Amino acid sequence: MTNQNSNEHFDVIVVGGGPAGYAAALYGASAGLQIALVEKHKLGGTCLNVGCIPAKELLETAAVARTVEHANIFGVLAESKGLDWSKTLERKQGIVDQLVGGLGGLLKGRKVTVFEGLGTLGSDHKSVSITGGKSDGTRLTGDSVILAAGSVPRTMPGFPIDGQKIVTSDELLSIPELPESAVVIGGGAIGCEFASMMSDLGTKVTILEYAPKILPGCDIDAAKVVEKSFKKRGIDIQTGVAVKSQESNADGVTLTFGDNDEKITVETVVMSIGRRPLSETLGLENTQVKTDERGFIVIDEYCRTGVQGVWAIGDVVDTAQLAHIAFAEGMLVIKDILGEKAMPIDYSKAPWCIYCYPEVAFSGHTEESAKEAGFDIVVSKHRFMGNGRAMIVGETDGLVKVIAEKQADGTGGKILGVHMVGPWVTEQIGQGYLAVNWEATVDEVAQFIQPHPTISEVFGETVLSLTGRSLH
Ligand code: FAD
Repeated sequence: MTNQNSNEHFDVIVVGGGPAGYAAALYGASAGLQIALVEKHKLGGTCLNVGCIPAKELLETAAVARTVEHANIFGVLAESKGLDWSKTLERKQGIVDQLVGGLGGLLKGRKVTVFEGLGTLGSDHKSVSITGGKSDGTRLTGDSVILAAGSVPRTMPGFPIDGQKIVTSDELLSIPELPESAVVIGGGAIGCEFASMMSDLGTKVTILEYAPKILPGCDIDAAKVVEKSFKKRGIDIQTGVAVKSQESNADGVTLTFGDNDEKITVETVVMSIGRRPLSETLGLENTQVKTDERGFIVIDEYCRTGVQGVWAIGDVVDTAQLAHIAFAEGMLVIKDILGEKAMPIDYSKAPWCIYCYPEVAFSGHTEESAKEAGFDIVVSKHRFMGNGRAMIVGETDGLVKVIAEKQADGTGGKILGVHMVGPWVTEQIGQGYLAVNWEATVDEVAQFIQPHPTISEVFGETVLSLTGRSLH
């Protein structure tokens, strides 16, 4: 990071060096803009340091453990001697450090000037003052300012985060030892990833979820596959229950939950109830930039705050809290700053990936939301059970579900939603997303040849069957 104490002027000042901020900085710099990036902690933000990357690395460790456990099915006589968790953490940290270091190099290569410290927006809306860190005392001015302060885990009153008995994702990803038993409060995407990872690595896991089902935003058929797999692996899932209180004791933590005040005692409680925006760090109280009652910065479809020259992107605004959405918003804003014709993001079609076992991926309408939106639909589902490659890999649980507009002859027209659960679906959703976002029709997509033998043949078969004809 740069150690500067001067007043400097830039085309664009970006506050926050997570995926939103660094995407805006890199994209803007590649378009020739002079960019300042202010980061108070670590480049890469949540995603690289305590989010996507470390979480997926630990899930891969879980996948390796599963492979070893089932190796004898393939005739490979392997026996696990357990888990060297410190080595696991070392590998995870190595990947994080490599990516964070690489990002620093990339920013330097693009001549983005990085300032270290807390950036607050001035009441003139054109200046950012930095306090703390190596750039303490620096005041920057810019023609445009992008606010990308990100988010932090939500917590519950009466549940103090001590990093050992009660943790959030921040602590769990570096926990010195995996607990023997854990409750995950919240069965959303991150909660299910953690439950899956810990269970595969030997922790007895219980999920307590307030909503009637786990993975609330997912299509019901996909969520059911995950629920069934979790239960088969010994994960206890309690839905429709509110966690009321906790009591720390010699055995760990006792939680009281549900209408009948049930109790459960575990070594560790993982709080996974969503993330709140970090807008309070930006000094907005002295500006005209507005936040809503939950702290999200209010924006329009171009991520403009309504104050001339100030944009906000990423987790600090009320759009899907995903790294790839943050990237997309970063690029959108740079185009807007450059005065180019920018296309607002269609958030309803954005791809979602959940890396638990089995994986989940989707884009567009669920069956339920398509009906609610008034579409007359046809639905096709194909399971991985009959797919050759899935059998070879030994992962036949799961399905592909495609939702399309119904044509007069009963066949599928425009593809409205693609939902996948099963092996490597996070790597397969690309073509589903392309179909949904391109507003492609069933006939158009059915023309495409799927390589054989691949797991992606199931997507091809599912679309093909909506033409009224099929193969397998
Ligand atoms: P952040 O990544 O939070 O970055 C904001 C940055 O701004 C931080 O570095 C912060 O220090 C800095 N900052 C804040 N205020 C100031 C200030 N005033 N001055 C200077 N700097 C400041 N998303 C996916 O797409 N796929 C996944 O698989 C995925 N997995 C996840 C797993 C976990 C466990 C978690 C917690 C999140 C996951 N996410 C995933 C979400 C993803 O990490 C976030 O959506 C993404 O990081 C948001 O990027 P951001 O730049 O808006 O915010």
